[in-house]
Amino acid sequence: MKLLLDSTRCQGYGLCREPAPELIDLDEWGYAQVLVSHVPAEGAGVAEEAVAACPNSALRLVK
Ligand code: SF4
Repeated sequence: MKLLLDSTRCQGYGLCREPAPELIDLDEWGYAQVLVSHVPAEGAGVAEEAVAACPNSALRLVK
């Protein structure tokens, strides 16, 4: 699966990083940066939590 970020939608809330710090980091302004775009199967659960945590629907998980 791929974890995709639409940076035009990211408002820097930082909520996505809490459930998935191994997949997402925040830049110095608090905007998300995807660290691992190809998510291994064992990381799917936290990736889905990160997607659900974003209030702006800036993250997507695609197969
Ligand atoms: S929760 Fe959404 S808007 Fe906030 S930093 Fe993460 S991707 Fe960006």
